[in-house]
Amino acid sequence: MSETVTDVEYEPVVGMECHAELLTNSKMFCGCKNEFGGEPNTRCCPVCVGMPGALPVMNKGAVEFVIRASLALNCQINPHAKFDRKNYFYPDLPKGYQISEYDVPIGVKGWLDIEVNGVTKRIHIRRVHLEEDTGKLFHVAGDDSHVDLNRSGVPLMEIVTDFPPDIQSAEEGRAYLVKLRAILTYIGVCDGKMEEGSLRCEPNVSVRPVGSNSFGTKTEIKNLNSFRAVFKGIEFETLRQGEILNSGGRVIQETRGWNDAKQVTFSQRSKEGEEEYRYFPEPDLVPLFISEEWIEQVRASMPELPDARRDRFSAEYGLSAYDAAFLTENRALADYYEQSAKLSGDPKSAANWMMGDLSKLLNSSSTEIGDCPVSPEALAQMVGLINDGTISGKIAKALIEEMYSTSGVPLEIVEARGWRTIRDAGAVQAAVDKVFAANADVVTAIIEKGLVAKRGFLVGQVMRETQGKADPGEVNRLIDAKLGLQG
Ligand SMILES: [Zn+2]
Repeated sequence: MSETVTDVEYEPVVGMECHAELLTNSKMFCGCKNEFGGEPNTRCCPVCVGMPGALPVMNKGAVEFVIRASLALNCQINPHAKFDRKNYFYPDLPKGYQISEYDVPIGVKGWLDIEVNGVTKRIHIRRVHLEEDTGKLFHVAGDDSHVDLNRSGVPLMEIVTDFPPDIQSAEEGRAYLVKLRAILTYIGVCDGKMEEGSLRCEPNVSVRPVGSNSFGTKTEIKNLNSFRAVFKGIEFETLRQGEILNSGGRVIQETRGWNDAKQVTFSQRSKEGEEEYRYFPEPDLVPLFISEEWIEQVRASMPELPDARRDRFSAEYGLSAYDAAFLTENRALADYYEQSAKLSGDPKSAANWMMGDLSKLLNSSSTEIGDCPVSPEALAQMVGLINDGTISGKIAKALIEEMYSTSGVPLEIVEARGWRTIRDAGAVQAAVDKVFAANADVVTAIIEKGLVAKRGFLVGQVMRETQGKADPGEVNRLIDAKLGLQG
């Protein structure tokens, strides 16, 4: 027998733990302001720095946010949830324990749907619970480490996917996070800023031979702060673990960091066996009671969610599935679109300009739609100017760039630049005559050899001659008449 060894092909199995900082005004158990950044250790009090004897007071707004998120994620709500102490020692946690929820979280048994390559897949969610964030450590030059407790006690929601995991590829992992972020930002409980750490995602990845239903040893990836990093991190771990197994090695259960510059994961600490947190019910807080009335009140105040809005955009504005998904990816984008679609009365054209030229301009200046220098009103007015024949589509491309750089009013820019479509039929006819005279060979080829395909060249030349200001319909009509193609 030959000794040829064929490499086994592996597929990933991915569980997701996501932490979302809640957009409450104050912290979870004290009145300190809940805000990102700031001068270190300026938003702290005896409660959130963990002084002995300080007593926590529950933030009802934070509980309500978790109820809202749980409902948006199709979870059941536990009417009697409770808080527990998770005990561990770390320099960013001065009181030596974190108040969290252990065995009775607020939300359980939920799901969200993702779409990858046109296929919808349901990702089950095991639990949604509320806890407090820790402080932050800074390691500066030399061996110095500093702690900033501004983040200590910020309300934090944890969302954990179910076991066995539904996510089976890097694409699905990214799609899950994109959808989760969309839902959380739509319902206004989290700002979703991954780069500021207000939405943090830790995938745990194991691999198994394609088609098998066994489970391998998993590793957890930390410090992923973009959708792309989540995709790349899962992809890297899948390859790394597959190579280890194919070379006869063993995957070690551990926590791995993500090096974004090198696009690799690296070992942080091994995690053999479960850590012992000695959970026990938090003695300083009464158990939660979440009444049916409260749940119904929250349900009634729920805004339209991304999937519903996507389906409505398709039905109401005649958008393709792709366009509707693109334009509902975040709430600000969807709001912008809906406003410009309504104001312009041309939803399809508004969508095309947003997904084309406007998206390019936003991307090239790394600007979010919320800070777009072109208002929905201005975009709608521009679409109107194209539709009523004031400007050509070609001129509109230059116009939107100028609107973007100056925040100017479209009609004022058109007047100042002399961009109105030429209404004078004689002027367009003169341009056509000039182009025909200069391109006699092309004209002959069209008329004598029937090369009608070359007709577009003449149209282009006339548009160029008129600096894009001729009405394309008029140009086509005059050219056809002169070529004798009409009637
Ligand atoms: Zn405080």
